[in-house]
Amino acid sequence: MRGAVIHGPRDVRFEEREAPKILEPTDAVIRMAATCICGSDLWPYRGISPIDGPSPIGHEYCGVVEEVGRAVRLVQPGQFVIGSFFASDNTCPNCLAGYQTSCQHKVLVGDAQAPMVRVPLADGTLVATPEVPPDGMVPSLLTLSDVMGTGWFAAEAADVKPGKTVAVVGDGAVGLLGVLSARQMGAARIIAMSRHTARQNLAREFGATDIVTERGDEGVARVQSLTGGIGADSVLECVGTQESMIQAIRSTRPGGSVGYVGVPHGVALDGEELFYSHVRLHGGPAPVRRFLPDLIRLVWDGKINPGKVFDLELPLEKVAEGYSAMDERRAIKTLLRP
Ligand SMILES: [Zn+2]
Repeated sequence: MRGAVIHGPRDVRFEEREAPKILEPTDAVIRMAATCICGSDLWPYRGISPIDGPSPIGHEYCGVVEEVGRAVRLVQPGQFVIGSFFASDNTCPNCLAGYQTSCQHKVLVGDAQAPMVRVPLADGTLVATPEVPPDGMVPSLLTLSDVMGTGWFAAEAADVKPGKTVAVVGDGAVGLLGVLSARQMGAARIIAMSRHTARQNLAREFGATDIVTERGDEGVARVQSLTGGIGADSVLECVGTQESMIQAIRSTRPGGSVGYVGVPHGVALDGEELFYSHVRLHGGPAPVRRFLPDLIRLVWDGKINPGKVFDLELPLEKVAEGYSAMDERRAIKTLLRP
């Protein structure tokens, strides 16, 4: 089998790897319908996160179950399934509380940019669609594996409710799907922060009512002026830098909430500023497993079409081109088909 392997900064190769097989009785092996490149894959690609020798990469996946271990009860070969980037048992106290990405037995699925992938803890991790979906629905279903579930969690963690005012920091795929999520949850006003025309247009299509092009202190001032000097009820932080986190906190009204899902890189917060801000913070790696049944239903019924976030589709063997297109911001998000 050939799949993606990252060797170092800006060095992703499509090369021979061992094909996955059942190792534990709770495993499943999936034949990939489609996979994709995540914004977080760009951290090692850009050399910001260290790489410990050549490593398989990719954590977003969906496809047809090829084989299951003898202890698997809830999924079976032939079913089309979607799972989270963290496999989870879905039975421990953290899973039962809805935080499957803090499962006591979580396992990262980190080698998904490949034609096949092994998923541990299959019963707790995978959710099957009602039937094998039509090909055109696959991109939207794939987003539920991470990016859409993460945008959804950002909105939920920011306590988005009907009628509220929401601001979204970050115009990557997660931020754009955060806009879609806020709209789906009934937000009245959604301020998307973006300076790129194509991303602004998609944000509007997903439900943004206002676009703010300024960043940092100027971005905060724009959100303040759009909200009568108070700040937004809910702010989604979808980047993970010091600037974006501070921008999110300062754009939130006293008593409001920040949902942060950008993986923090070098973020340090000032306790005294937080204390006097009266802002709630909640975030982390999105427990997408919790949202999968509901989000599959919304896609299946045609209520949401998050697959629109893919603006580049390549055969899997062109994975390196997919990375450079996202790195250079020529693409929002790259879909890869085996
Ligand atoms: Zn668990």
